[in-house]
Amino acid sequence: MKRRRPTHVVELDREGRPTRALPLTDFNAGSKPQPVICCRVADGPPHIASRQGTCDLCLERIWIAPSTADLVPQMRAPTLWCMPCLIEQLKANAQAL
Ligand SMILES: [Zn+2]
Repeated sequence: MKRRRPTHVVELDREGRPTRALPLTDFNAGSKPQPVICCRVADGPPHIASRQGTCDLCLERIWIAPSTADLVPQMRAPTLWCMPCLIEQLKANAQAL
């Protein structure tokens, strides 16, 4: 069975709860990098069958969910981050402000 192409990106708040669905055209507007957050393989098995990939920052093995794998080719500037790298980036940004 063929999966539907994603047309929206679900935005998460700081606690990781979905807030709204953003159309891909809006999501791809602008020029900022588009981090995709994944769990590290070392942190345990994924909730759904996922393939393995690599974090673009620390090169740790990460789980890539099927919905993420579908979305990444449609993103303008995707970059895959693991959870610990996201936290490091948030800390670095907080210090830069
Ligand atoms: Zn990482």
